[in-house]
Amino acid sequence: MKRLFYVVIIILIIAGLVYFYPEIEWSSPEVKIDLESDHIGTRPFDIDVSDKGKGLKNVKVILSGDHEDSILANKNYPEGVKGDKIEVKLDPKKLGIKSGQAELKVIAEDRSRLKIFAGNKTKVEKKVNLDLVPPKLDVISTDQYINHGGSGLVVYRTSPDTVVSGVHLGDYFFPGYKANFKDENVYLSFFAYPYDIGPKEKIIVVAEDAAGNEKTSGLFYTLRNVNYRKSDINISENFVENVMVPILDEDVSDSSHKEIFLKVNNEMRTKNNALIEEIATKSENDMMWEGAFRQLSNSKVEANFADERTYILNGEPIDKQYHLGYDLAVTKRYPIEAANNGVVVYADDLGIYGNTVMIDHGMGVLTLYSHMSTIDVNVGDQVKKNDIIGRTGETGLAAGDHLHYGIYINGVAVRPIEWWDKKWIDDNVITKINQASGEFNSANTESLPQDSNTDSNSE
Ligand SMILES: [Zn+2]
Repeated sequence: MKRLFYVVIIILIIAGLVYFYPEIEWSSPEVKIDLESDHIGTRPFDIDVSDKGKGLKNVKVILSGDHEDSILANKNYPEGVKGDKIEVKLDPKKLGIKSGQAELKVIAEDRSRLKIFAGNKTKVEKKVNLDLVPPKLDVISTDQYINHGGSGLVVYRTSPDTVVSGVHLGDYFFPGYKANFKDENVYLSFFAYPYDIGPKEKIIVVAEDAAGNEKTSGLFYTLRNVNYRKSDINISENFVENVMVPILDEDVSDSSHKEIFLKVNNEMRTKNNALIEEIATKSENDMMWEGAFRQLSNSKVEANFADERTYILNGEPIDKQYHLGYDLAVTKRYPIEAANNGVVVYADDLGIYGNTVMIDHGMGVLTLYSHMSTIDVNVGDQVKKNDIIGRTGETGLAAGDHLHYGIYINGVAVRPIEWWDKKWIDDNVITKINQASGEFNSANTESLPQDSNTDSNSE
């Protein structure tokens, strides 16, 4: 009798295991709180939850601090959901929460029948710094005229909690650089009003703290329209064969003239421009330049900035590109002067641009010299204004010996003529910095650009 009882018990246990086994799993859900720092504020953040076994059942996100627990998310999942990304966005007013120390709790439950049908639970707690106060931001510089396709400078002061600041314009962002004042919360942001955005885009100065709280300020300015030229350029098959094929350095015997043209003028140009942008965005936090930038001596501008060029091959328009600099020609193999003081950050071949030198002048300002026959500087060289960096030539996509000369701000090409103009520099840069240094007690004026009388850009 006793033996029969044990047999029945064993049979029941086996039956239970067979019935429930598929419903049981031993792995608990995984939770990952995706935070850039331990500061949380109004910037949304993600919580990744997943379960390898039966899937998720419920996820709760709770914030506790000096206030009642706030439920930031509470999600139930239908059967079969193995993972989710929950975006959490704090609404301080609705939640009635204040800045301070707090704790973020995530409780994730799966559908396992383990633990008396309650499922496996994962609880993750993280101490956070709840920061709901945006940085302070005061724009110091005064009204200005900005040319479409040209440059501008804004001087502003933020509170010390700022981690990123600068100028937003459409999809473009121009970071601020610390000015060398006693008050180290003053920044300079050189920016472009890019040639390729519409005139209705607004210039917004922005400061962001570690929790992603943002303070923005508009800028008073007048945007001046600039008429950029449009032109058609007829391409000969001869040019494609003799100039473009050698640049490509690949077997193109099966490609048509049009295909070769697009490979160079479009694909390679895009790649080359991306590299210029990448290099230009790694600028020094130091204004190395002084006074007006120089134009190649004795040169005239032969092709303008932001000319919109339509390329025509055998009567068919096949491509459209902007010319992002000036073409300057003097005589063959003419010595090229550095436009201003800076550091050489590129000295090599660059696709359509041929032999190219780039000089970083600091705070996002960069000059580019292309189609050179010889390069006489190396990466890392410090150059002074007027130092000879090489000679003009016709390497890359060039028809005839000339210098292609570009000025970039944080990788965006701008009209060089402003930077050649002493009056423009005085009005738009020097005056603003001097005003701010008067207000913020310049600690070291030596590194600020001095007005130089030796410039004459009228050649
Ligand atoms: Zn050019």
